[in-house]
Order: sequence, then structure tokens, then C-alpha cells
Amino acid sequence: MAVAGEGCWLIDAEGKRYLDGSGGAAVSCLGHSDAHVRSAMTAQIERLSFAHTGFFTSEPAEALAAKLIENAPEGIARVYPVSGGSEAVEAALKLARQYFLEVGEPQRSKIIARRQSYHGNTLGALAAGGNAWRREKYAPLLIECHHIAPCYPYRDQRPDESAEDYGLRAANELEAEIERLGPETVMAFIAEPVVGATAGALAPVPGYFKRIREICDRHGVLLILDEVMCGMGRTGTLFACEQDGIAPDLVTIAKGLGAGYVPIGAMLASQRIHDAIEGGSGAFQHGHTYHAHPLAAAAAHAVLQRLVDDGLVAGVPAKGEALVAALTDRLGSHAHVGDIRGRGLFRGIELVADRETKAPFDPDRKLHVRVKAEAMARGLICYPAGGTIDGRRGDHILLAPPFIISQTEIETLADRVTDAI
Ligand code: PMP
Repeated sequence: MAVAGEGCWLIDAEGKRYLDGSGGAAVSCLGHSDAHVRSAMTAQIERLSFAHTGFFTSEPAEALAAKLIENAPEGIARVYPVSGGSEAVEAALKLARQYFLEVGEPQRSKIIARRQSYHGNTLGALAAGGNAWRREKYAPLLIECHHIAPCYPYRDQRPDESAEDYGLRAANELEAEIERLGPETVMAFIAEPVVGATAGALAPVPGYFKRIREICDRHGVLLILDEVMCGMGRTGTLFACEQDGIAPDLVTIAKGLGAGYVPIGAMLASQRIHDAIEGGSGAFQHGHTYHAHPLAAAAAHAVLQRLVDDGLVAGVPAKGEALVAALTDRLGSHAHVGDIRGRGLFRGIELVADRETKAPFDPDRKLHVRVKAEAMARGLICYPAGGTIDGRRGDHILLAPPFIISQTEIETLADRVTDAI
């Protein structure tokens, strides 16, 4: 049982200390017990803890929306706060659907996603997620979704192929799928810019998302980027897609936005989408009782101040490099480490049975889960991002420590994860 948290550490009921090497699952970007967030929450609860959005907006909700827009990717102009990642994805899928009704293309209802992806556990988000085993029990789901291959250079880039050529080839799968389904029936493509929970910080090659954007534009398909895990500075820029130089139509965020202090998420939309709805039926039916909750919004606003104004995101690239250097130093030639990858403080280790052939371990050995247990025994929390992914096996360890991690803690993290592996 966890009883306390301070900085990058969690403490259990026996007093054992654990280095939070994955922020839960890329949540605790500020670490535990951040003084600024604590005082913003205390001040807010003393003034106003709840006002239903059917009656009122609130100061912290407006301040949060304004700050998000100020720092959002190009073209993003509106914020819809919700209570978590799945709700944000659900909101994006519904808004995309409504957009096409408003603009007179009601036949556009299908979505395309990628096989290595996680988008949440509600029925719409589950339909989009790539893990077939998660969906099976709950079929039929609410949305018709088709899955293509992810951009996975470690496994899919050919030896004679440049990263750029591979990126184009991988992105072109989207075009083939849109054409197969009939462009006039496809509503949106949804993807995590850097894949988290199912693939251990799988970053795209340069040019991949630029081509994806071109393909979406050519066929009138909306681009939804799910930054629930990789957003909020985790990869070194507030939004991961900034590094890919593209403007999405819809973006979802959560985890790092609440930073573990409150449950909160948001869907962000472009002006074009907002205007089509405002100029049409005028209403988006997605209210949840707790959306834009004042206390949650005050905490998230304080989190953004720490991330942006206090320069925590600006420090992520250098700390990320230090983490990779420490991991490479210890694991770079390990017989069972196939790949060390990711961006910023969002890093993954892919374990393989054979480095030469890249053959995965026998799935029944559940290696990623065993590494998690061995790490816990050594006082390290690291996230086991593995499982059966549409028949494709993977044992991935996800590392996503708080942005306040020190060099000494980076070395401790690398030592303990190496020891656990
Ligand atoms: N999208 C992504 C990319 C995620 O990683 C997650 C959570 N792991 C979700 C959506 C769902 O978020 P939540 O668990 O807050 O509903």
C-alpha cells in the first residue's frame, strides 16, 4: 500500500521507498507533493469547489483553457475539459462524427487507427485501440474501426531502406486503407504521436506524420492525435506533435495535465471544427457532471504553470538524453535488449530473446511483468508495456520519470532497471 509521495519517490506502508521511474503510467510529471500545485488546490477549495457547468463556468476552468490554447499546436483554438483520457478520446470521436453531420457528409462514420495503440477503455475508445484481446469480450463496439500497422522502425524498416522511405511506406498504408474503405465513408484517423502503453515509447521516423497529414487532407479525413500519454511535455515539447511539424484537427490530453493530483483530461479542437458546429446545430452533447471541475482545473492550471512558466518542459530534452546515455551505458550491449527508444523523458526498452533475429520471448513467460516485479523488489517503479498485440508479441518496459528527476536519480533508475532485467 502506498502511503506517501515526495519528489520522485513513493513510500509504502512498511516505509520502503520506490523511485517512480514511470510516473505510474506517464502521469506524475511534476513528481509527488509539488508545493505550487498543493497551494493552488488549497486556495481553490477555500473559494469554490464545485459549480455545475450547466449553470456556470469558473475562473480556473477559463484560465486553464486560455493557457492551453496559448500553448497549443497551430490551428487548435478550443478546449473541452473532461475528467480523463478515455473521456477525451470519446469526445474527439463524437465531435468528429458531429462535424461531418454538420457539413453534410453523414456517410463518414468509420475510423482508422493503428494496431499498436491504446486509446482508453470506454466503448468508443476501445473500438479504436489496437489490442484485439481487449475488445473481443465487448463486441460489437460503438464505432466501426479498421487498424493499420504502426510506424515501428525497429521491426519494420528494411535494412536497405532509409528512415524517410520507411516513414512514407508506413504512412501510405493509411491511404491504401482509406481507398479500400471508400474515402467518402471515413471520418477520422486516430494515432498516438509516440505510442505508450502498448509499445513502450514507440516514436515515428521523421516525415511519417507529415505524410499522414497530407493523406488525411487529400481524402477529407480528420486527424485526431491522442496525446493522453505522450503529451504535456513528456517528449520534450508540450505537445508531442510539435516535433513532427503537423497541425492536428483534434487532440486529446489527460495524464500529465492532472499530473496525478486530480483526474482531468481535455479534448482540443481546431477553429474549423468548432465553427462548423456553432454554425450548424450549435450544441455538442457531451456534458459530464464533473467536467471542467473547478478544483481539477485549478490544479491543472498550476501544473501548466510549472511545466511552461517554470521551464520544466524545457529541461526535458537534456534529462531525456542523460537517461538514454545511462541506459545505453548499462544495457546497450545486453543480450536481451533489442531496442532503447523514445523521446524526452518517455523511453522504452524492448526485450528480445535474440538480438540478431529480434525474436521475441515466449509470451507465456510474461517477461515484462516479471521485470516489473523484480524492479519493485529493488525499489523501482517501471511500467510493463507489453502483451499480445494483434498476434505480435512484445516485452516492453516503459520509463517516464518525473521531470524533476536529478542526475543521481537517473543513475539509480538505470542501475535498478538493469538489475531487474
Ligand atoms: N489514450 C492513451 C494514449 C492512453 O495511454 C490512455 C491511458 N493509458 C488513455 C487514452 C485512456 O486514459 P484514461 O485511463 O485516463 O481513461
